[in-house]
Amino acid sequence: MRKRLFSLLAAALVAAGGLTAATAVTTPAPANAASCYEWSSTLSRGDSGSAVKELQIRVAGWVSSAEHLVIDGKYGPATEAAVTRFQSGYGLAVDGVAGPQTFGKIYDLTSSDCTPIHFSYSEFDDNCGANNFNGGAVSASTAKENTRRVMWQLEAMRHKLGDRPVGITSGFRSYSCNSAVGGSPSSRHLYGETADLGISVNVHSQCTLYRAAWKAGFTEILGPGYSGHNDHVHVANDPSPFRSAPSC
Ligand SMILES: [Zn+2]
Repeated sequence: MRKRLFSLLAAALVAAGGLTAATAVTTPAPANAASCYEWSSTLSRGDSGSAVKELQIRVAGWVSSAEHLVIDGKYGPATEAAVTRFQSGYGLAVDGVAGPQTFGKIYDLTSSDCTPIHFSYSEFDDNCGANNFNGGAVSASTAKENTRRVMWQLEAMRHKLGDRPVGITSGFRSYSCNSAVGGSPSSRHLYGETADLGISVNVHSQCTLYRAAWKAGFTEILGPGYSGHNDHVHVANDPSPFRSAPSC
């Protein structure tokens, strides 16, 4: 983490040094993510397309309790509300319109591999020691993309919980790995749509994590009191919503 922080700072310094005064004022320079997605125009309600979809992925953790933001490339009321919460959460001007300030904050939150700064693929691809996204229910590239979406939701959750670390104990699993660890045969771990937040690597209580996941857009949340989940909270983007933590 320290090494990564250093590389981010180095990248920021390089980028800052290369800016002219004019562009520094008018352009929300993606200092940390020069090769990642960049928006070319302001987006607001009624807009649609891939630019909106990329925005939705990054604000999907800013929904209301038990809501799940559909990543459909359509800037409707739900997307507008999520952008509004994102702006409020980071102390930006609040108008529900994604412009230079909002994009600039997203760039600030993006690391060089285009994932949010506080999470990385290596936390999710252990896969029983294989260190890849192969062998699951979807292609490796799809599993990786699904994981990136989970990371943005976790980034929001982390910020709302006071910017304290959120630890991951299991992410993507191949069929053989999932079977070996006793996972459900239809587990969302096979899709990379999941994170297990183990109590051994988290400062927050299980119930705090469970409740925070409700407001981060996850549809499947399992915690203490639910069979097999007394040592972690499982969060996922399951098409069939299900939440249970009888002990919370
Ligand atoms: Zn799990």
